[in-house]
Amino acid sequence: MSRGGLYVHLPFCPYVCPYCDFAKWPLRHSQAKRYLDALDAEIAHAPAFEADTLFFGGGTPNTYAPADVATLVERLRHRFAPAGFLEASIEMNPDPNLCTETVFAAYRDAGIDRVSFGVQSFVPSELATLGRRHSPGDVATAVARARAAGIANVSLDLIFGTPLQTTASWRASLEAAVALAPDHLSTYGLTIEEHTPFADWYARSPEDFASNDLEGDLYALAIETLVAAGFEHYEISNFARSGKRCAHNANYWANGDYLGLGVGAASYRDGVRTVHTKDLAMYCDAALAGHVIPGDDERLEGAERLGEAVMLALRTLEGVDVVSFARRYRVDFHSFYRPVLADLHASGTLEITPERVRLTPRGRFVANDVCGAFVTYAG
Ligand code: SF4
Repeated sequence: MSRGGLYVHLPFCPYVCPYCDFAKWPLRHSQAKRYLDALDAEIAHAPAFEADTLFFGGGTPNTYAPADVATLVERLRHRFAPAGFLEASIEMNPDPNLCTETVFAAYRDAGIDRVSFGVQSFVPSELATLGRRHSPGDVATAVARARAAGIANVSLDLIFGTPLQTTASWRASLEAAVALAPDHLSTYGLTIEEHTPFADWYARSPEDFASNDLEGDLYALAIETLVAAGFEHYEISNFARSGKRCAHNANYWANGDYLGLGVGAASYRDGVRTVHTKDLAMYCDAALAGHVIPGDDERLEGAERLGEAVMLALRTLEGVDVVSFARRYRVDFHSFYRPVLADLHASGTLEITPERVRLTPRGRFVANDVCGAFVTYAG
């Protein structure tokens, strides 16, 4: 039986942000109810899987009533983790109406022990630009309520490269985040996704968006500020207090198996990557009828499978453990990737020892290019 992380997608949002291209829809109660029924049906028909961790992503999972989330956790535990989850996380919008004491108490009682708030910025004008309706003060309230309920692990997500952002405003956000003493922080560079209002804005006025140089400066500032505040920069976009790394995501980066449930959810099991349809009606119809969920699947083999594993491992502080790699994939890392390693070492982006290969501090700024070199290398 396959074993690893369990991801559940809850795709409804109280409002839709202009930069977002996730599988998400503005909340409609009848649709949201039908979706829960579809998830139940998918759970009943899902393959055998042993889950160590649980992650509710979205969408905005806390648009659902806390009792619905608690019932869902119970079903998932019963089906995939009879002994309980090692870590159970939920993404949350920090809107105070969606982050009441009752919500956190229900989550805690259900066994959710990690909450991740979509903060994005602590600067009101940037929140407005991003279409977010919460205030910086709402985040402080939500964090305090989570802690008061006894939820042990609080994470904050921030976005840099927001239009018209400056290094000073980004510094203000980072400092405000640190002041709330989170256990974990994620910092993501804004990406312009096709078919979003931000893509139209970018087409009209690209000068409003961060240049590559500014993005690099903002990322450097995040690393400098958060490391100085005692966070470990354990993955390209992620920072944690000691012992507070996200176990669910660590499994992704270790190229572990995971099972994704819900519309648009991805799974990776026994070398096969599957992605469910992003069509909400199609997903619900198939799940409720007990049919296989439409989507794509692809078996990763040979150099492609290796490249994927390297790309994921290089995102982490530890990088590629060469001995484990040889044991797991039966390939001598240094021999197989000799030409790639030589090029990247010469460019100063990779630190290479007999036991380990990882990004240099400089390599973190061009991680996509470095990882891409492994992904496209055919041997
Ligand atoms: S960014 Fe989050 S809250 Fe905003 S529309 Fe996307 S999923 Fe919903």
